[in-house]
Amino acid sequence: MKCSKCGGLAVINMRQHRLRLCAGHFVEWFVAMTQRTIEAYRMFIPADRVLVAVSGGKDSLALWDVLLRLGYQAEGLYIGLGIDEGIAYSARSLEFCHKFVAGHHPAAVLHVVDVAAEYGQAIPDLARRTQRGRGKACAVCGLVKRHIMNRIARDGGFTAIATGHNLDDEVAVLMQNTLHWQVGYLARQAPVLEERAGLARKVKPLARLYEREAAAYALVQGIEYIYDECPFARGSTTNFYKELLNQLELKSPGANSSSTCNFSGCGRPARWFLSRLRRKSCTPAPAAASRRPPGSCVPSAGCGSRTTAGQPEARFYTSAALTRPRCQKSCSSGQWRARQTHRLRVRRNTRAVTRANAARNHRPPASCSERHPCRQRGFRPHSR
Ligand SMILES: [Zn+2]
Repeated sequence: MKCSKCGGLAVINMRQHRLRLCAGHFVEWFVAMTQRTIEAYRMFIPADRVLVAVSGGKDSLALWDVLLRLGYQAEGLYIGLGIDEGIAYSARSLEFCHKFVAGHHPAAVLHVVDVAAEYGQAIPDLARRTQRGRGKACAVCGLVKRHIMNRIARDGGFTAIATGHNLDDEVAVLMQNTLHWQVGYLARQAPVLEERAGLARKVKPLARLYEREAAAYALVQGIEYIYDECPFARGSTTNFYKELLNQLELKSPGANSSSTCNFSGCGRPARWFLSRLRRKSCTPAPAAASRRPPGSCVPSAGCGSRTTAGQPEARFYTSAALTRPRCQKSCSSGQWRARQTHRLRVRRNTRAVTRANAARNHRPPASCSERHPCRQRGFRPHSR
């Protein structure tokens, strides 16, 4: 098998891209693809500080390595969950993280938070004590990890939290949410989850790369990682979906990739629609209780515009959500009009600037006669 670029020995065959690459070209390609995803979804810029959640696995360590190679200010965060289950899972994971820092990026900063030291009990003990997740540790584990990541990001002044979720993870979750028709989760599923009050922005720079590509990158770069999966994740539904999707990918290369990419496109209108649903209704503001003028809309999103006479309520959660709302000057239609005006203005200005530049740069040839229209307009001929 030969590299599609240089003809050398290829180490990976990516059927979905019809691309076979040698070790050197594959590393280049992987880094470029990650950068492209970061830019496409406007995840962060080089001036931002990024906190990379590392678990000692291939995805998170590969992600941290790529971000440091690209020159981003990426610091690692390892959360010690205290999971042993006979294989010293947490202890070995931390060991691989330290080994990565020492062997690949000695100047990199790794923050380590131990759950048992922080909360008095490790994850398995916390899971046994709570009803959350019906005895399974994963629900408690996810909650604790999210809490710690947000706290460290807030205290450390990080702009974003980057996780090593790859395309396989994204498609499996998409399939699960679609089968159960969990509209709220579907609307939120995206490579970027914007920051909210107290919660940092979450980004997934490997969301467009397959798991096998991340594994290949780690192997080619000589990154040692923990091969065992978390003992509590064995036999999970997500893993079952991943197996099904792998079979689909074997039959139809690129099916998973196009599924998530198309969902990102289709997801936008869904998110817009859901944001309108959440707005629920505009109710007239009581004069005494609100600073707004009496009779003005008080939707939960807060447009503050006046309603039409005799229509104190402009409900957005019916089919009217897809048409113009009843407010005389609602925020949504106002924004739409402003956007259209702005687009038209930009288009007009761009055309005017293009014409002006073309006229300025125009140089009639020396052979051009004096009666040529361009001479008459005062353009200078080419200097020889
Ligand atoms: Zn090559």
